Amino acid sequence: MAGAGLEARATAGRETGSTGRERTGATQSLPLQWNEPIQSHLNRGFILFLLFLESTSTMAEPAIPTPPARVLSGMRPTGKLHLGNYMGALANWVRLQDQYECYFFIADWHALTTDYADPSQIAPNSIEVMLDYLAAGLDSEKSVLFLQSKVLEHAELALLLGMSTPLGWLERVPSYKEMQENLTGKDLTTYGFLGYPVLMASDILLYQADFVPVGQDQQAHVELTREVARRFNQFYRPPVRSEADMLPALEGKVVLPEPKVLLTPSPKLPGTDGRKMSKSYGNTILMSDPEPVVRQKLKTMVTDPARIRRTDPGDPDKCPVGDLHKVFSTPETMAKVYEGCRSAGIGCIECKGWAADSLMKVLQPIQDRRAQFTEPRVIEILEDGSRRARARAEQTMIEVRAAMQMTLATEKERVSK
Ligand code: SF4
Repeated sequence: MAGAGLEARATAGRETGSTGRERTGATQSLPLQWNEPIQSHLNRGFILFLLFLESTSTMAEPAIPTPPARVLSGMRPTGKLHLGNYMGALANWVRLQDQYECYFFIADWHALTTDYADPSQIAPNSIEVMLDYLAAGLDSEKSVLFLQSKVLEHAELALLLGMSTPLGWLERVPSYKEMQENLTGKDLTTYGFLGYPVLMASDILLYQADFVPVGQDQQAHVELTREVARRFNQFYRPPVRSEADMLPALEGKVVLPEPKVLLTPSPKLPGTDGRKMSKSYGNTILMSDPEPVVRQKLKTMVTDPARIRRTDPGDPDKCPVGDLHKVFSTPETMAKVYEGCRSAGIGCIECKGWAADSLMKVLQPIQDRRAQFTEPRVIEILEDGSRRARARAEQTMIEVRAAMQMTLATEKERVSK
């Protein structure tokens, strides 16, 4: 990925979604040059020019602004977030919040699908994850930041979507079998675990999201959500009012628009053992790890296996530390690494020290921001965000209930006013 800019692309023409917002094709990619220093992306601002026109009697009627497309994503609170979470998701989310109407949540009910036997860490982990969201630069003034379990409509929509989702779709989800095999200490033969894709679909469809930001390997999850929405819309497309007593605004409307994938850059980020950085491998560098811990973890990181002695030349392209450099180091440092490693002019300890320097340039501002938030403030942000999310979710549920003809006459009168 280094050096390759991803151009924004649309695989189909522009269209107007049922939410009235202009939407682009089924897949979009975000532009990002990963060989630029990461910090420059984080600091990249969007300059807004406001043009003030003199008011005259001949002034054209101002155009009605198009609302920004809506984006939704979330993470399970399984513990403090690591650099892989940051580079694969959070850094992208921070940029998206300047361009889209964003909803980012903590999926605490999803954590229950695997941790139902001991839920004691889900609430404290939710606070830690929200701290990491805020530390990364998510801003509660720009994005709606909320806790899934505080918006009960997620459960209601999951139940309703579960009525029409075929069992075979869920059994065929690749991660269903994979996780059952990998998490051997847990009994995952449960209704909740099988149904997690339905809950995930409800998370997305509840906000009538236009886009879901994901990496290449997660596109299948969004595709299942699109299928769930398609099936719902086939069954429950509201007929015109003369045929059924629907809410006027719903006549013929697609209630659950199919979300689209927003491909986001997800650079290869190895853990300390050389495998993909993952909590389940125990090879992570946390966003909140203090500098001495980062340096210690890097000291133990595996290197190019061909470089056994200090005098052996190595190859940064075959070394996990080299991969870290490619993501976090400047071109000048990279040049020193390539030259020094291939000529055996530097030792791995020195090279890892440079990698730690580069990592800390990204992590230090994140950790400084984290230190500004107290737990009561985090809870306040979550409560406020959840209230805003509930208000948006209820709008969708009014339409869902009406489309499914689950609305009483008295409610119709109330929501029509
Ligand atoms: S010098 Fe750096 S890139 Fe080369 S093998 Fe050692 S740690 Fe890896």
